[in-house]
Amino acid sequence: MKRDPSALANRTFDLAIIGGGILGAGIARDAVLRGLSVALVEKGDFASGTSSRSTKLVHGGLRYLEQLSFGLVAESCRERSILLDMAPHLVTPLSFLLPSYAGDPRSLAMLRLGTTLYDWLTPRRHAATPRHRTLSASEVAAAEPSLPTDRLQGAVLFYDCQMDDARLCLETILDARRHGAACVNYCQVVGFRQTWDRVDALQVVDQVSGDSFDLRAKCFVNATGPWVERVGRFSNCETGHVAIGPTKGVHLVIPRINRKHGIYFQSQRDRRMIFLLPWGDDSLLGTTDTQFTQSADAVHTDSEDVEYLLEQLRELAPAHAIDASDIITSFAGVRALIRSDQRRPSRRSREERIVASGQNMLTVAGGKYTTFRAISEKVVHRVGRMLGQRLSRCATATTPLPNQRPASHGVQLSQSPSVFESDIAFACKHEMAVTLEDVMRRRTRLALSRQGGEDVATQVSHLITGPLQWSEDDRRTQLNAYVKQWQSSRPWSRTT
Ligand SMILES: Cc1cc2nc3c(=O)[nH]c(=O)nc-3n(C[C@H](O)[C@H](O)[C@H](O)COP(=O)(O)OP(=O)(O)OC[C@H]3O[C@@H](n4cnc5c(N)ncnc54)[C@H](O)[C@@H]3O)c2cc1C
Repeated sequence: MKRDPSALANRTFDLAIIGGGILGAGIARDAVLRGLSVALVEKGDFASGTSSRSTKLVHGGLRYLEQLSFGLVAESCRERSILLDMAPHLVTPLSFLLPSYAGDPRSLAMLRLGTTLYDWLTPRRHAATPRHRTLSASEVAAAEPSLPTDRLQGAVLFYDCQMDDARLCLETILDARRHGAACVNYCQVVGFRQTWDRVDALQVVDQVSGDSFDLRAKCFVNATGPWVERVGRFSNCETGHVAIGPTKGVHLVIPRINRKHGIYFQSQRDRRMIFLLPWGDDSLLGTTDTQFTQSADAVHTDSEDVEYLLEQLRELAPAHAIDASDIITSFAGVRALIRSDQRRPSRRSREERIVASGQNMLTVAGGKYTTFRAISEKVVHRVGRMLGQRLSRCATATTPLPNQRPASHGVQLSQSPSVFESDIAFACKHEMAVTLEDVMRRRTRLALSRQGGEDVATQVSHLITGPLQWSEDDRRTQLNAYVKQWQSSRPWSRTT
């Protein structure tokens, strides 16, 4: 499956989507499965925005119960079951411990009440996510010896799912393509061609060749996440814009602390809930949630983010506390939350908004990764109404997303994550990888592991030089760009 910008020009699609994050991907797959002709353009790599920078949980969102978002939690729990069946190679069950210590903002009784409600909001329970149960302090100590036993009252054990966010997005795109959608990465929308309040075409610049072309369609969707307002300003319509209040979230990859459970713990400092997740041989700690007013292109980990997360970890597991020099890497993303009066970022709603502007443009923003399939279904329903067509029923809840990647073989480059030379070749030939970073960060998870440094990146750069037809200069330029990017995800390494 090759990247093919020529498939976008000289025809009029039923639907053109701006943005190749999980929402754009989900909409493209849903629409093409219902028989529409679909195009999708992404300015960078697929999933290079928020959709590769999440906590990587397909979850009901236990903490949203405190905000009384029962509808969102129920929808998320339902979607969790659907995604488990749809893509079992990318969405896997994970058990969580929710420990309670004397003096915590939320008592064990409150945690039990919350998880009971959580179970209650999951009527069609998947066998892989059983009901919660309560563990005594000694059971907790046996299950997760890293947790201190001092003041420990017990814990609630509950189930959610972990996912590979970048690959789930990519494979959704690839499946849409397999069904006939024209999806192209590194194609940036730089303007709209409009007649009054009707968009006729998107003005697109191919970031690889530098060519410009018009992408024509009868209906358009702006699914650009944190860039949604910026892209919305290309329109001359005064109404139909979505206002967002973006927040930044940072995660740290750290040496393994937890044994096998995810640990979901309460911050003593600000009541926030923090995750410590199993992450290959290591652990993933996150996340922060702070107001973010800059361009989403510039999001990065700051030393304050690192300090905040390490402080939380010190409180949770003082004996296992690590310092900045132990951190393996980090990643930062921007949540495109719908703007509200809520001052505390973590209390802002995670619900989506779908808005029409002019005759044929829809904008979608907000929501959670977990609910992408359901949001996409709602968007495509609105697309059908805009087109004046009665579309067939949504098929995504029952159409599996098959694992198309052949079994790995040949030389193994890395054990954790497991990556073989054949995976690299497949990414170049069949998964539209364009840069070294695409391969290191999103086709594989090498960049989110101990294997993300220059040594492995150099090996990978040699492997992809042939398939991507690079010169030696190209290879060096790509390697330098990647290494610079890897170093910027380790801000503490400049100071320690
Ligand atoms: C720190 C953090 C943790 C999270 N954890 C979870 C979690 O565990 N579970 C969960 O369910 N949700 C989670 N979320 C939320 C989830 O990640 C997002 O809801 C989801 O990824 C948003 O997808 P999207 O497609 O709307 O946006 P994006 O993934 O940002 O996609 C938008 C795309 O549009 C492209 N684009 C922008 N401008 C243009 C243009 N001019 N032309 C072409 N393309 C353009 C961008 O490059 C980008 O790829 C988390 C979010 C964050 C930030």
